Amino acid sequence: MKGRKLLMIPGPVEFTPEVLRAMGMPTTSHVAAPFVEAFGEALERLRRVFLCPGGQPFVLAGTGTLAMDSAAANLVEPGDRALVVNTGYFSDRFAAILERYGALVTQVAAPQVGDAPSLESIEAALSAGGFKLVTVTHVDTSTAVGFPALAGLAALARRAGALLLVDGVCSVAGEELRMEEWGVDLALTASQKAIGVPPGLALLLAGPRAMAAFARRRAPVGSYYSDWAQWLPIMQAYEARRPAYFGTPPVNLIWALNVSLGQILEEGMEARVARHRALAGAFRAAVRALGLAQVPVREELAAATLTAPCYPEGVGASLLAHVAAAGVLVAGGLHPQIKDRYFRVGHMGAVTPSDILTTVGALEQGLARAGYRFEPGAGLAAAQRALLA
Ligand code: PMP
Repeated sequence: MKGRKLLMIPGPVEFTPEVLRAMGMPTTSHVAAPFVEAFGEALERLRRVFLCPGGQPFVLAGTGTLAMDSAAANLVEPGDRALVVNTGYFSDRFAAILERYGALVTQVAAPQVGDAPSLESIEAALSAGGFKLVTVTHVDTSTAVGFPALAGLAALARRAGALLLVDGVCSVAGEELRMEEWGVDLALTASQKAIGVPPGLALLLAGPRAMAAFARRRAPVGSYYSDWAQWLPIMQAYEARRPAYFGTPPVNLIWALNVSLGQILEEGMEARVARHRALAGAFRAAVRALGLAQVPVREELAAATLTAPCYPEGVGASLLAHVAAAGVLVAGGLHPQIKDRYFRVGHMGAVTPSDILTTVGALEQGLARAGYRFEPGAGLAAAQRALLA
């Protein structure tokens, strides 16, 4: 009736009215003083959101894949050895990008889809020696598998003399990520997920060891556009509240970013992580109460930013259309091996308890229309109990 459905996919997500207003403001020059101030402030705020006071932020027009590409282009020299901790589709992508820039990639695979490699298996792989970098997907959006042992992995990487690069596209500003405290050397994300800004920004935070490795490079960076030598002076200039130019910054997206980062910091990083955990817990309680399995093989691996429930017996992808008809958009499966067996629900950014209840309600409607037999309201009751606990 309202002509608009609740967007509960794992990115893009629902955005706040203030962020959307910034997107609709008349675009100014990228060297106008108010824009220079907003860009400078956004760069300062990124350090606080990534919890990396000593790091260098980069804001590029592009998507999360560009952020991955930029990390690889600037930190890999042909022949460098890289270890990819693989938890799914986006880890495969990181391996392919690293190889494109000449890295010799070794992968540590999870024992099965829905699981994550153990620290022991990673340590064993690292013991071969000679790795320049290690990559990990903090939350693999194809499986909803998180990597809760990030601090331990950072310690292993450091001991092995390797840089740790974290794909935080589905985690930054939703999952706990203490970049500097844990010793993560680079983390990257995109605007459209827990950062809460429409798609179009690639965001990176490079710690001191990553910047030092970049400074030590001998081979030229294989991408003209991504080269940090081009972007570093731009980021430094805007942070010093001076205009600069290499490529025209996406003015409205950067305004929106600054607004959203302000909202994130106002909520506070710990409170924000706790809210994501609580809402994810409530949604998963509903999924369990409805008798649906999930892709992550253990509860402690399940992400706070999205859930990947399996279709129940006798129900297939047509469920998604029924859920949409009930007013909520959720996403299909993505991991090629299990694509048709599960679906994905994003719950990150400005998501509220009411959004969770609305989504569970629409899921129940959809399951009923798809012919699945269950106790109506069982999911809603479980979610509400968890939310009120
Ligand atoms: N990494 C992860 C974990 C992701 O979830 C995504 C996007 N879903 C990407 C990388 C790629 O980001 P983008 O689609 O913005 O290029």
